[in-house]
Amino acid sequence: MLEIKNLHARIGDAEILKGVTLTIPDGEIHAIMGPNGAGKSTLSYVLSGREGYEVTKGEVIFNGENILEMEPEDRAAAGLFLAFQYPVELPGVGNANFLRTSLNAIRRKRGEEELDAVAFLKLARAAVRQLAMKEDFLKRNVNVGFSGGEKKRNEMLQMAILKPHLAILDETDSGLDIDALKIVAEGVNALRDEKFSALVITHYQRLLDHIVPDVVHVLAGGKIVRSGPASLALELEASGYAGLEVA
Ligand code: ADP
Ligand code: MG
Ligand code: MG
Repeated sequence: MLEIKNLHARIGDAEILKGVTLTIPDGEIHAIMGPNGAGKSTLSYVLSGREGYEVTKGEVIFNGENILEMEPEDRAAAGLFLAFQYPVELPGVGNANFLRTSLNAIRRKRGEEELDAVAFLKLARAAVRQLAMKEDFLKRNVNVGFSGGEKKRNEMLQMAILKPHLAILDETDSGLDIDALKIVAEGVNALRDEKFSALVITHYQRLLDHIVPDVVHVLAGGKIVRSGPASLALELEASGYAGLEVA
């Protein structure tokens, strides 16, 4: 499903990714761990097509297509979901409308019929139930007055509604209390099936207590330096990243 081959990327003059190679088959959850500054967020930005990141070598094939040549909206239409780390607050914009707009943008790109408010609400309510959320969530303004946990929940709701083939979740080291970790884990676990894959990027092992990954990769110095089963995360928790850095 996702094949990253010898990916090199730079920000300005600095080469950050120095040959990342990684394959995520259908239905698998892979985790990337690694020290601060390793290039984890850079990898998620390159995959999502954020401006300012220049790919100098390598390729990323997603469901048979080279996504590096695609605009971010086309990547989303192809089934890629990138969780936003800093959710915007949109006063005056109802959450249901916001979520419907993002789903319909994808449906339009795919040549599928757009959903009207009634059809969307049916689908959104099912997602709300799947995530054991309160329905009034859909009526509130986007992220306005949401707690950190509620913003996370809303992000997971968006993911459940968009039903991506691959979700990339970059969980930064800051602001992830145990409740937020559980919300992310519930969101990912609710979508687990043979057509859904996820790349979960995290600095801390404890997220992986709740989302048990099929494979754990260690990114250090811009490369994957180790891959192994879920137990690798525990091993790293005990031993740290020292000795894994590469020149
Ligand atoms: P991680 O997410 O693993 O902590 P990042 O991908 O955020 O690492 O950063 C990797 C490296 O790229 C770091 O050395 C960081 O200082 C550098 N970096 C990140 N963003 C920029 C930027 N906008 N300009 C220059 N260097 C950057
Ligand atoms: Mg960092
Ligand atoms: Mg980061």
